[in-house]
This record gives sequence, structure tokens and C-alpha cells, in this order.
Amino acid sequence: MENPLTPEVLADPVALTRALVDIESVSLNEKAIADCVEEVLRGVPHLSTHRHGNTVMARTDLGRSQRVVLAGHLDTVPLNNNFPSTMRGDLMYGCGTSDMKSGTAYALHLAVTLPDPRYDVTYFFYEAEEIESRYNGLNLVAQAFPEWLEADFAVLLEPTYGIVEAGCQGTMRSVVTTTGVRAHSARSWHGVNAIHAAGEVLRRLQTYEARRVTIDGCDYREGMNAVRINGGVAGNVVPDRCEIEVNYRFAPDRTPAEAEAHLREVFAGFDLVVTDAVAGAPPGLEAAPAKEFLEAVGAAPIGKLGWTDVARFAAMGIPALNFGPGDPNLAHHPDEHVEISKIRDGAATLHRWLAPA
Ligand SMILES: [Zn+2]
Repeated sequence: MENPLTPEVLADPVALTRALVDIESVSLNEKAIADCVEEVLRGVPHLSTHRHGNTVMARTDLGRSQRVVLAGHLDTVPLNNNFPSTMRGDLMYGCGTSDMKSGTAYALHLAVTLPDPRYDVTYFFYEAEEIESRYNGLNLVAQAFPEWLEADFAVLLEPTYGIVEAGCQGTMRSVVTTTGVRAHSARSWHGVNAIHAAGEVLRRLQTYEARRVTIDGCDYREGMNAVRINGGVAGNVVPDRCEIEVNYRFAPDRTPAEAEAHLREVFAGFDLVVTDAVAGAPPGLEAAPAKEFLEAVGAAPIGKLGWTDVARFAAMGIPALNFGPGDPNLAHHPDEHVEISKIRDGAATLHRWLAPA
């Protein structure tokens, strides 16, 4: 295949977005797109380029006092009659237009066209963000070559509709179990109904008042929800067991351990097992490059409510935020699209921030 990422395409973030969208790259099928990106970057004299699996990293080494990361994932969710891309007026439709090849295009465009950025820059084009963590390119690099990730600040180019979404909330899954005693439902007074006992668990969830936490001016709104319930033996048996799965989304001022302690407080008296937890990330807007980035954007940041890879950077002590042209509400949507004007605005913002002073 001839590389569609020609110099003319690389010079224009819109054309580049479209070219990236038109290389199919559903998770675990990123080889073709990674090959194209790698070939381009190896030809750029001001970058040193490395590859691990289907993750490509390129960096400047200009001896600047600060280093920033621009990172975009190469993969998309499965196609949904939305490949290749199509144009309708100011809108580009197609799988990955919003999440997040328009953002990834920024990193590739800047890597090629900006030989003398204000900071040293490490550009990441990584695989398998949309699936389990064990495949995630950033996660694999963090294990194999943690030094590749060293930086003072990171921008993850996920869709935020052109504003800064800082940090992210943590998430914890747990199972609350109620128990009882089985009996024939015709003589139910011999038993204890575990599903009835779950009523108190649900009542606590229903009356729960979720916190709103403000950190560095960013609002994080927590939520605690039953997401699944499981109980019952047969149509004529008083059940002896009921399980309520509870998902707690917590603000980044709480560690997973503190989140668990809080869950145990809420469900005091019940059996509770935590099945899965990931820490959130504080907004991290105090680093000098972050402040300058906010100035370039010129709009107030908001808190990121979902979990994103910024938390991986935060876990390594690197402040990180999300910034991209796509509408996050359209990510994974069959009508996924991105506005051409938003792509151009965001590219101008990144230029203002990174161009030499
Ligand atoms: Zn994404």
C-alpha cells in the first residue's frame, strides 16, 4: 500500500484527519496505520522515532527545560456502517472522526511541521485504547519503557469539543450481598427473604446524596448507582441470596482506598466486596506548561467525569488533561462526526501554545 500520509496531507489537520479515518484501525488491527505513521515520522530529521508493538513514539531533543507529551490513540471501536469517511457541509462523518483521529491528527501534524517547539515534545500514537487495559499501548510502554513517558505535562487529545477537560474521576465496582434462609414460598415464614433484605440497600442508594467537589476550579460530580441486581432460586422458593452490583464514580480528591472506606460506611451492616477499582486524576493545572496551555485555549476548564488515560500519567506524577475537537457525546456513536471548524480552531490553539516564543 502506498502511504496516504503525503506531505500535503500532513500539512493540513483536516485532510490528515480524513486520511487517518480512512485507514481502518479497529482495536487490535492497528498495524497498517502504525506502519504509515512510523514511516512518516522516521523521515522527519528533528525527531527520534521508536516503536513498541503498534505504538509509535517520536520526540524532539532540543534541550528545552520542560517536556510535554501529546498523545492520541490509533484505534477505534468497531465499524458501524460508517467507513470510510464522508463529508456533509462542515461535518466529517466516520468511525474515529471524533474519537479520536481528529485529535491524533494534531499530534502528527505538529510532529512533522513544528521543528522548534517551545518545549521538547514527546508524541505518542498508541494502540488499543478502546479495549481492556492489558492491550493499551500506553500501559504497555509504561511497563517496557517507562522512560519514554517522562514529561512535565501531558495533553491527551481525546474529544472534548475544544475545551479543556481536566483530570478525571475514579471508578469502583463492588458487590453488596444480602443473605437469608431458603424455604418453600407456600410456608415462607420458615425462611428469610434475601431479596427483601436488598430493599434496604436500594433505599440507601436512592437517598444517597452524591458529592460535588471543586478542585482547581473544576467541578467533579460523583455518582453511586446500582448497575445490576441478581437473586432468586425458583418460582416457589424464598431466595437466600441477592447481589447488588454498585458502581461508584468518585472525584479525584479521593484515593481508591478512601472510596472503598466510604462505600463501606454507606453499606454498613452489609457484606461488600470490591471487584474492580481505578484511581482518578487531579486536574493538574498548576504546572507551567498547563497554565500556558489554558491561556492559549482561553476558556475555563471543566472536570472530566469519565475515566481516561490521563489517569495513567497522573499515576506517574505527570499532570495531564484532555483536549480535542470532537464532541465526546458522539464518541462510539453510529453518527460519529467532527466539525471542520473545530479541527481548525484546536490546531490554531496548539500552534499558539507550542510555537517558539
Ligand atoms: Zn478515545
